[in-house]
This record gives sequence, structure tokens and C-alpha cells, in this order.
Amino acid sequence: MITISYYNMLSLPDVSCYFQLEYLNSKSDKPVAAGDKVLFLMLTRDEKEGHISAEDVYPIATRGVVESIENEWALVRTTSRVDLDGIQPDGKHFQAQLRTRPEISDLDLEEQQERFQKMRAAMLDALEGTQWLMGARNYIMRWSNMNELITFTSSMLQISSEEKFAILAEDSVARRAENMEKAFYESLELFKVNREAQSAQKENNEQLYREQAIRKQIDFLQDELDKLHPENVTDVQKFEQKIRESGMNDTARAEAEKVLNRMKQEGKDGHEYGMLYDYLDFVTSLVWKKEPATDIDLKAAKAVLDEDHFGLKKTKGRILQQIAVMALNKKQSGSILLFVGAPGTGKTSIGQSIAKALGRKYVRVSLGGVRDEAEIRGHRRTYIGAMPGRIMEGIRRSGASNPVVVLDEVDKLVRDYGGDPSSALLEVLDPEQNATFTDHYMNVPYDLSDVLFVCTANTTDTIPGPLLDRMEVISFPGYSALEKFQIARRHLLPKAMEKAGIQAEQLAVSDDALRAVISDYTMEAGVRRLKNRLDTLCRAAAVKLVSGEAEQVSVEPGDLRALLETAPIRHDRVLEAKAPGIVTGLAWTQAGGEILFIESLLAKGNGKTIITGQLGDVMKESVQIAVSLVKSMFPDQAERFEKNDLHVHVPAGAVPKDGPSAGITLTTALASLVTGTPVSAEYAMTGEVSLRGVVMPIGGLPEKLMAAQRAGVKKVFIPEENVDDLMDVAEEVKQALEIIPVHYAAEVLERVGILKPASAAA
Ligand code: ADP
Repeated sequence: MITISYYNMLSLPDVSCYFQLEYLNSKSDKPVAAGDKVLFLMLTRDEKEGHISAEDVYPIATRGVVESIENEWALVRTTSRVDLDGIQPDGKHFQAQLRTRPEISDLDLEEQQERFQKMRAAMLDALEGTQWLMGARNYIMRWSNMNELITFTSSMLQISSEEKFAILAEDSVARRAENMEKAFYESLELFKVNREAQSAQKENNEQLYREQAIRKQIDFLQDELDKLHPENVTDVQKFEQKIRESGMNDTARAEAEKVLNRMKQEGKDGHEYGMLYDYLDFVTSLVWKKEPATDIDLKAAKAVLDEDHFGLKKTKGRILQQIAVMALNKKQSGSILLFVGAPGTGKTSIGQSIAKALGRKYVRVSLGGVRDEAEIRGHRRTYIGAMPGRIMEGIRRSGASNPVVVLDEVDKLVRDYGGDPSSALLEVLDPEQNATFTDHYMNVPYDLSDVLFVCTANTTDTIPGPLLDRMEVISFPGYSALEKFQIARRHLLPKAMEKAGIQAEQLAVSDDALRAVISDYTMEAGVRRLKNRLDTLCRAAAVKLVSGEAEQVSVEPGDLRALLETAPIRHDRVLEAKAPGIVTGLAWTQAGGEILFIESLLAKGNGKTIITGQLGDVMKESVQIAVSLVKSMFPDQAERFEKNDLHVHVPAGAVPKDGPSAGITLTTALASLVTGTPVSAEYAMTGEVSLRGVVMPIGGLPEKLMAAQRAGVKKVFIPEENVDDLMDVAEEVKQALEIIPVHYAAEVLERVGILKPASAAA
């Protein structure tokens, strides 16, 4: 058996071919004679690269036979395909079992020949005018079937050897013919394009030719596709133009062009088309060009801040400092301000005013409830429905590369299985890193260094340390009744009227009515509720005006109930006479300050302590300290704690998380309980208490005092060490309350009448 092995060539059955005897002899010891068997093997790699082993041979080969010998030539004809089983190397040769592979003759010979003629004609046509054809024409004309054509051109087919082998392995004659045609025509097309490229380009660089040829081929096919789908053209052209004009950096442009090419190939019906479209739409609608810093007029900026917001003097001052520093540094961003305070205290809207004062675009990005890092940094485009993160989405919405971005509710980020969103946020805010912020969806960096970030939160407690360290906290303690009145008069009411389409002369709300809305229909640190109430009021007035009931509506306190359709809040509950054991405390919550009542009771039992209400664990320790303290202050009453169960309850409503600051309230409540002395409802108090009976400082004093004033409390005990914080408390609140700084718990007990002054001194 003579074996002939080829790499990158196909040997199909029914092919006649002349071989030089010398060539055949070199593989065999005996002289070649007619009738000798020949086996054509297909190799998976080039023989020249080294010794061929069993794995280098494809498991299907073509059998042939030497038909005749003419001079120095042997005419070999291939007959059938064979499976090679158990190929074993054997010295220079191989051992293998040969099994003939049956053909499925599902294409009649006539049609096969017809197709072959067409292929040959196309080939001759393509070769027309080339030097190559001059010698080859006769040779080509001698081919008698499609298999010969493919076998003799197989080394030039632009398909992989795997694909060539697949043609050989195909049992169905019809399918094989189809595959051969496809490979042939595609390669022919490429050949033509190549030729054009060659004549156009004189450079003798094969790689370049090849690349160009392929590109031209792609363009050509794309044009053909475009003709079939004219609707595609618009999208592609639109994005081509947008990419050109976007001012993208090189990386971004390369990525966008890659996606655009995929979009071209995909065509409008492709299942990825929509995703590719969305990507290009997103990146091309971002502003990539740097915007120059605008000149800053500090006076004008101040005027803008004052115009939009009443009060907030300290905050505005700090904002102006920031603006001034930015102007001196010629920078568009600076330190990151974090506005902390209850809802409706103007944190977000002052952020908007900053943008206005700087003459920059504004966008708000809400981070509340974000639990997945991908919501900040985007989803990778590996699946349909992937989206950019909220930051980049916000930047896009802003329509600028240097907007003022208010990141709302940074305290409401949730760390979860989806990774840590706060660490992603850190990257956004870090000036060292944010010039190359890479959203996973975009997959290319975007420069955030000109963006001015402002954050808001209700509390700093839930903000992770590293994030908090990046920001400068400015607290918004809420508004006093007087401030609220001004805000309502100057801002909220005019806006509400405008929204309802009411002209200035059509509605008159008296000062008393406005004050009543604030004090009797809202109970909040901010003005959100107030704003809603005024909206409701204006809508009710609109009905009256439109129905013709009145031409002008004037509102007095007495009209509010009907217009607002709610009952006023009762404040007298604070001032109700109280039983011993009940004391008013002050608490800080995320919604601002609140008053809370601590109720205590001794009932028959054996010294257990029961704590109910919403205060939980923090409260337990405070209760234990209060019990010990009261026992030591009232030794003769100590036994009562052993013989009874103590029950402490903080009615629901307020959900203060600062349990310790209820220490003085608890101590007073227990002292009131054991001595049977009721504490007047005009007192409220806040302060942590130590075992020695020292009243220690607490946080959130401004909020707490405002809550006390709102609730109608008259006198408030505060820790002496908090006196400095009174600076931040509105004058009006300070005037409305008698604020009593104390150092020892005993001073409180004395003032409320539980302890006699003499015993306190003892
Ligand atoms: P926050 O972000 O603190 O929850 P907002 O900024 O949403 O509060 O404020 C709620 C509403 O109250 C907005 O309409 C805002 O314009 C208004 N507002 C808050 N504070 C003031 C103020 N000092 N002067 C004028 N309007 C204010």
C-alpha cells in the first residue's frame, strides 16, 4: 500500500491525478505497478513541522488505485472513503484497519454535473485576465466533476482544515456538494477582492492585503445586506456620525466602533441588535468633551442660594466657601459635602441650588435601597438586559460632563450578597480614582473628576467608615416654627399656588392660618408634610374657585379643618396630668427630634425587670443603671425592687435608636415611681446617666429641643456639657423653652420635686 499524506488538502473520491513515479517510489520499496493500492491521508498539521504521529492523521482517508503507468508518471484514481480504525505508528508507516465508508447518493449525477459546470465557469471567469489562467486553462478544462475541482483547488480554499475534513466526512452527497459550493464561492469572492486590493496597493505586504481583502469583503457583503434591509442603514449611519462627533477618548471610540461593527453584521433582525443599539445610544449620548470651568461670581452665587432657600445660614456659608475654593483652585470639584438631617429639611433642594449658583447641570441619583454593587457600577454586557450603573445613568441624564450630582440617601445603601455598593461608591468619590471610573456596562473609563458630588443622608450611623471619611458632614437640624412660617410664606405657598394654577389675588392665607397649619397639622423637623398640606389647601381652593363658589378664597385658622379634611394634632397630651412613674423624654430619630414617654410600674413579683416598647437592647443597660442609682439614692425604697417586678414601657411611635440618652428620663421615672411623686408634664429631659449619677452629653440637641417646643413642653433639662450645642439652636426655640443645664441626676430630681433640696446637698 502506497500512502500519500497531505496537509491542508482534500482528497475526494472519483478523482484522477498524475503522480511522478519517483515521488510514489520514494515511499515504497517495490516499483509501482498498475493495480497498486494507494491511500490518501489528511493530516491535521504540516508534516514539515516534525515527525507525524498517529494523532496527526484524520480518521477518514481516501482509497485509490494506480490505473496505469505512462513514462515517468502514474495515473492514480481515488475510489472510496475509508474509516481508519486503531491507527498505530509502525516505523515509518502506520497500521490501521480500513473500513469502506458508504456514500448516501441523494443527488443525481446530472444535477451534480450542472453545478460543477457552473463552478468551473465562475472560476474561469474570476481568473480571466490573470497570468495564472494562461497555463491553467487546459488543466481546469480537464476536470470532470465537482470532486476534482475541489480536490485540486482545496489548498486554496479559504476554510480551515477542520472544515475540509468535515466535507470529507459528510456521507450525504447532496450535503457534501452544498458544503463544497459554499466553501468554493466564498473563497472565490475573497480571491476577487484580493485581486482588486493587489492592483490598488503596490506594497508587498501580504498581511495587509489579507486584512484589506477581508475588510472589503465585509463591506461588500454589508452593502449587499443593506440593500436587503434598507432600514438598518439609518441606525448605523446615525451612530457613525454620533461617534465621530462625540469627542470620545480613543478607548471609548475603539469600543464603540467594535460594537458598531457587530451591529452591522448582526442586522436588524439579529437577537443582539437591540442590546448593541442600546449600548451605542448610551455611550454616544454621554458628553465626552471636557467643559471649561465657568467663571464664578461669588456674590451672584450667594444671591441664588438666598433666593431659593430661607435660613440655612451656616450651610450656605459652607457652600460658598466650597465655591470660593473651587474658584481659586480653578477646579470644578472639591471636597464632598454630606448633608445630614431629617426628611424635608432641604438637603436635596439646596443641592439643586448649588448647581444653579454654579451655572451647571443638576442631576439627582437616588441610592436608597441599593444592595447590588452593579447598581452603582453597572452590569457587564454579557447578557441581554444589562444596564449601566446609576452613576453613569445619572451623568447621561444630566447631559454634561461636569454636572452637580446629588447622591441621595447614601445611608440607605445595603451591603448584601451582591457585593458592597459602598466600596463602589468610594471609587466614584475618590479623586485619585474617579478620573478613570469604569462602569462595567460601558467597559471603558469615563472621567468623573469634574463632577461635583453632594451627598445626603438621614443619619451617619449606617454609613461605612471609609465612605464617611471621604465626606464633610453638614447637619440640617430642621426648622423652627418661625422658620417654617417664613419658608411657607415665601416659598412653599407661592409654589403650591402656581402648581394649582391659582393667581396671587385669588387666594389669601392669613398669617394665623399659616401658623396653624404648621403647628396643628404638621409634626416634623422638615417641611415636607407642610408642603403637602399647602398643596392640599390650594387644590381645595381651586375647587371653590372653579365651581364658582367664590371668586376669592381667604383662609383663616377655622377653615383649615374643612379644607385639609383632617383633624388637627392635639398637643395637650403632653400637658396632661401624669401619674408617678411617667416622664417625658426627648429622642433623636432619623425623622428629626421626637418626644417620648417613659412609663414605669412596680407590680407584685420577685425582682424581675420587664422592658417593652421599641427600645430593645440598648435600653436594658440604661434601665439597670437607673435601678441601681435609684436604689442607692432611696435606700429605704430599695426593697420594693426585690419584692416586685419592674415594668418599663416606651409607647410605640417614636423609634429612638439612642437608648442611652434616655438615662436621665428613666432615672427620673423610677424615682418618681418609688417615691410616688408625679412629674409635671411641662418638663422634658435628655441625657445619659453614669452609675455615679452624672448626666452625660448626648447628640442631636437642636432636633430634640425643636421637638420639645413643637410638642408644647416648657422646660427641658439638658446635660451641662451640651451647652455649647445651643449655638446651633434657633433663637426662637431657645426663647420658647426654659433650658436647664444639669450636671447631676439629683439636680433634676430636685427641680421636679422628687428630692428635697436639702437631701440633694447631703
Ligand atoms: P430633603 O432632601 O432634606 O428630604 P427636600 O430638599 O426634598 O428635602 O425639601 C423638601 C421641600 O422643601 C422642597 O420643595 C424644598 O424646596 C423645600 N424646602 C426645604 N427647605 C427649604 C428652605 N430653607 N427654603 C425654602 N424651601 C425649602
